[in-house]
Amino acid sequence: MHVIIIGAGTGGLCLAHGLRKAGVSVAVYERDRTRSDGLNGYRVGIDPTGNRALKECLPPELFDTFVTTCARAPRFFNVLTEKRATTASFPLRPDDDPVNSERSVSRMTLRQVLLTGMEDVVHFDKEFTRYEQHGDGTVTAHFADGTSATGDLLVAADGTNSRVRRQYLPHAQIKDSGIIAISAKVPVTDETRALLTPEMFHGISLLFAPQGKFCIWHVMEFKWDREGAVKHGIGGNDAELIENWPGLLYDNTRDYINWGFSAAADKFPADVMRMRGQDLVDLALSMTEDWHPDLRNLFTLSDLGSCFPINIRTSVPIEPWQSSTVTLLGDAIHTMTPGQGVGANTALRDAMLLCRQLTSGKPVLDAVAAYEGEMIPYGFARVRDSLDRMGGEGPMHKPVIGRIMLAMTRAYFAATDRVPALKRKFLDDLYTYRGAE
Ligand SMILES: Cc1cc2nc3c(=O)[nH]c(=O)nc-3n(C[C@H](O)[C@H](O)[C@H](O)COP(=O)(O)OP(=O)(O)OC[C@H]3O[C@@H](n4cnc5c(N)ncnc54)[C@H](O)[C@@H]3O)c2cc1C
Repeated sequence: MHVIIIGAGTGGLCLAHGLRKAGVSVAVYERDRTRSDGLNGYRVGIDPTGNRALKECLPPELFDTFVTTCARAPRFFNVLTEKRATTASFPLRPDDDPVNSERSVSRMTLRQVLLTGMEDVVHFDKEFTRYEQHGDGTVTAHFADGTSATGDLLVAADGTNSRVRRQYLPHAQIKDSGIIAISAKVPVTDETRALLTPEMFHGISLLFAPQGKFCIWHVMEFKWDREGAVKHGIGGNDAELIENWPGLLYDNTRDYINWGFSAAADKFPADVMRMRGQDLVDLALSMTEDWHPDLRNLFTLSDLGSCFPINIRTSVPIEPWQSSTVTLLGDAIHTMTPGQGVGANTALRDAMLLCRQLTSGKPVLDAVAAYEGEMIPYGFARVRDSLDRMGGEGPMHKPVIGRIMLAMTRAYFAATDRVPALKRKFLDDLYTYRGAE
């Protein structure tokens, strides 16, 4: 069996590792021209489901490299007001267990980890354009440079705007969620660190403001310094793994504070998606005039090259289809809002499941049918949960009810923070959902 994967993203590369580890012939075709292109960076939270998939599919030493190259774990889950008052601050569990814990990874770093040792498998500068399914059970992918590749299975791992999906399932729609976000990174310096409270610096912080405005901060501190050398005090296996990892040569990730500001699309100017850099920072400042000055200062100190707008999109669930020699995983089939933070985790879960099925000894079509039979229900369930949590139609974005919702949200978090039994339940629920199989 030879498997062709379109897209060297989170899910496609995890699947490629798993198949190669099991001795299955696999090739990945990626439109980016080189391994360091196209790396818009933001923090991705990898939960136990994602960790488990990576552990199963990656060679053991590469999984250890993934764990070592994650940012240090957040210690608090904070809920704030726009005046930077703390509504609630929940202590998070330590990330001692490599699998059963929540990890923060930079998207760029994860991609470089996943590309490690895959030089013979991943082909860059190959933009997929269309496929053909043949009577003998094979399938051919065609690329923009006029070349093609033939295999026994074509896997669409080409993200939200999947060209494979548009040909294979033309009725599957992607729609706007009604939310727009602006995200940027701020280098960690003494100046920027002083703008955050200690709990914010050591935690994940969510800010709920009037008019459905929302902001999230993650502080990402790694085991290497600005020069890419292992930090003082990091020793043993961690130091060795980082020093021996060639991926850091392609990864410009250094300690940063990641902020993501979002609101309903109608609060933004019509041309927001064409804005970049300083214009976006100015826009964030103009939309947060009554926010705490330190938080606004952080916007000002952003690395302008890292600032980009995101039109948050979501897929529209569809009915199951007849399985064939083309299948899909990750955002290519179930793009979801980042409301639950499980898009990448679900792509990794798909990769692990498809890998298990393809290496189970079943005929290819049976393996694909078994995979799709599981993936379609859980994938679209996550799409619905994520839209409930982050959609422009939510009550938070309505003029009058929005104020009531904000007051209720704050009252809920304040009570949960103060009542030990509620606090324990909140944390249990947080981990239970994130670890959902
Ligand atoms: C701001 C933000 C925060 C997020 N935070 C989280 C989080 O905390 N936790 C979480 O689980 N998820 C998170 N997500 C979601 C997560 O990033 C995605 O769900 C995940 O990356 C999807 O992986 P994928 O492999 O399906 O697609 P991708 O990683 O997007 O990979 C698709 C690949 O296909 C390539 N490609 C596209 N078209 C073609 C073509 N025609 N030919 C060849 N190659 C092609 C692309 O270049 C890319 O490399 C977040 C998303 C956003 C926007």
